[in-house]
Parts: sequence; structure tokens; C-alpha cells
Amino acid sequence: MLSDRAKRIKPSPTLAMDAKAKAMKTAGFDIVNFGVGEPDFDTPENIKEAAIRAMREGFTKYTPVGGIDSLKDAIIEKFKKDNNLNYTREEIIVSCGAKHSLYNIAQALYNPGDEVLIPSPYWVSYPDQVMLNDAVPVFIKTDESESFMVKADAVEAHITKRTKAIILNSPSNPTGLTYDRKTLEEIAEVVLRHGLFIISDEVYEKLTYDGVNHISIASLDNELKSRTIIVNGLSKSYAMTGWRIGFAAGPKEIIKTMTNIQSQSTSNPNSIAQKAAVEALTGPQDFINIMLSEFDKRRKFLIKELNAITGLSCLTPTGAFYAFPNTSQFYGKVIGNRNIESSSDLALYLLEEAKVGLVHGGAFGDDNYIRLSYATSIEEIKKGVDRIRDALLKLK
Ligand SMILES: *Cc1c(COP(=O)(O)O)cnc(C)c1O
Repeated sequence: MLSDRAKRIKPSPTLAMDAKAKAMKTAGFDIVNFGVGEPDFDTPENIKEAAIRAMREGFTKYTPVGGIDSLKDAIIEKFKKDNNLNYTREEIIVSCGAKHSLYNIAQALYNPGDEVLIPSPYWVSYPDQVMLNDAVPVFIKTDESESFMVKADAVEAHITKRTKAIILNSPSNPTGLTYDRKTLEEIAEVVLRHGLFIISDEVYEKLTYDGVNHISIASLDNELKSRTIIVNGLSKSYAMTGWRIGFAAGPKEIIKTMTNIQSQSTSNPNSIAQKAAVEALTGPQDFINIMLSEFDKRRKFLIKELNAITGLSCLTPTGAFYAFPNTSQFYGKVIGNRNIESSSDLALYLLEEAKVGLVHGGAFGDDNYIRLSYATSIEEIKKGVDRIRDALLKLK
């Protein structure tokens, strides 16, 4: 009955895990949830007020498919100010979230059998979006010892005649690591020589720590800019996950095609949310630093606590709001008649026995890890880590 295409994909595992933890909470369990992929902060008041104003003023009709001019202009200013990149309105599209922009790109670029390089661990939706568009995800395993950054020679080794694009994500979900300039330059050289496209997911751009700065690969040189589609959005930087506003910037022809695709699927993103997005990008920006300094405190606390657990090790993330500890030392252990053989066994054990929700690394393509989001209070983090330590100690 169903299409072959539809049969290839699975529901988002991060949303599924979050749903399971929330269901246990509703059932009365005291759950510490490290599974969430969104800031625990409320959307700033000035942004909400802009939305209320938009409604009062009757800004409640269809807008241009690819977004209103005032929002495109605010996005253009953002790229100029933050990334030293110059775009025109024809090179910008506003979508219903960054995920939707990524999906439009997949529809606009891939033919059946095209190969798309995806460094692993990866964000959960990349492979499924590629497969939904009849293309083939090709994974390039990265290593913890290299801060989970894909290296140029590994990229080169995976290129075939069918390779169309590579998807980069920095700062990364799930690893929390951020690419440095030298690594990006080396990747860029290979990508240009082989005429690939780069899809650069930069949604965590503004969430970096320890003086590390996000570098957009498109800003390295002009030829590279013509091969890159940048995806970004407001969900993570402005605590606006529910508003569904994301955007992409890239070559005119690709953006125009994405806009045509959008015109036949969702039409414009929500008109009220677009007005709120203009306020987010052009209004006061102090909210980001307030949120960031809180995330930073939690990050330092969580990483220290995780590394103090015997058998667990965790790199210090430099971006986003995730910790990605290595849990492979616990595989092969048992408790009662429960065997822990994989990250999903471990995640299920921690949820059911320790009442801690998190996402198994297998969901991101690497079974040796689990992902913890620290978008939750220090008190909850402390309680959760204590529970994890006790539960891991019981494994024999
Ligand atoms: C959250 C997230 C997105 C999607 O963001 P939306 O704008 O809410 O669709 C895209 N990429 C990564 C890596 C994310 O973590």
C-alpha cells in the first residue's frame, strides 16, 4: 500500500525518546529528562510582543512563499554582521524551521542514486531526508580523538562519480564540537576540486563557549560561497522552537527551486512568526548572552561530573547544549537478567531503572555514546548525574 520511499524512513528517534520520557512523567514517575533538543528558556518578551502586534494589525494572511522582504532583509543583515557574507533577497528563503529548509534542499538537489556524504555521528534527520528523496546517504565515521571532525582525506576517500553533496554541522548536534578554520579549509579544497555542494547546518552558530567562534565555511572564499547552502534558524538561538522559522542562503537558482517546491507544499511560513522573527533578529540581542552564560555553567558542571564517573569519558563540548559521553566500557555488563550490549540497551536501562531520559548514540550513528542535553536546570542535572552514577555502578 505504502510507497517504497516512505518505507525507507523511520520517525525521528530524538522526538520518540523525548515522547517516551514525557509519557513516564505524565504517568507519575519523577523523570530527569536529558533527552530534550530545545532550550528550556521562554521566548523573550519583545519577540512575543511583536507577534501580538502582528495579529492586532491583521498580519494574518498569506505572505510571499519564501518570506516577507523585511525578514529577508533582517537575515541579509545577520549574514553581513555575523559571517561577513553578502546575499541578496533572491539568495534567501524562509521556511517552516531549519529542518524544512534542509528538506527543501534535498528535494531541489538530489536525483535517484545520488550520494550524499554525511559525517557520523550526525543529526538524526540528515540520512532520512536524503533517503526520502531517493538519494543514498554515505557515512564517514569521525573519531573522538579528532574532536569528531571529518578530515579532508576521509572526505576524499568516500567520493565517487555519484557524490553530489556533503552535509556539515558545526557546532554539532550531538557531539557539541565546533570545526576549526584549518579543518574547514582542507575540506573546502577537496569539495571544490570535486565540484560538490556543501550543505552547512549552522543552527547552533550563536551557542559557543570557551572563546571558540563559529566559522561559516561559505565565508572562506567566493567560489566556496557559490557551492554552499547555509541553513540556519531561530529555534535554538532565540528559544523559538515552536514558532517554526528557519532559513537558507545560497545560489539563486537553488533558492528559487526551493521556493517553487515550498509553493507546492507548505506555502509561506506562518505570517505572525515571521514578524516575530524580524524582531528577534533586529531587536535587542542580550537574551542570547544571558542564556549562553547559563548553558555554560551547566556545561562545566555536567562535564566535570560525567568525567568523575568511573568508566565514562566525555570530551568538553565547545558549542550547542549537548554532552556526548563514551559509554562503551559498560557494554557486555549485566544487572539481574538485563544485558547491556548497546547504547539503546543502556538508554532504556537508565530510563526504566534510574528514571533518567536521554538519547542513545545509535540514533546518531555511533553506538559507543549517549547524548545528554543540558537544557535543564543545574538542580536537575545534579539529580540526574547522581542517578546515572548509581545505576552504572550497579552494572557488573
Ligand atoms: C534543532 C536542529 C535543527 C532544526 O531546527 P528547526 O529550525 O527547529 O527546524 C536542524 N539541525 C540541527 C543540527 C538541530 O539540532
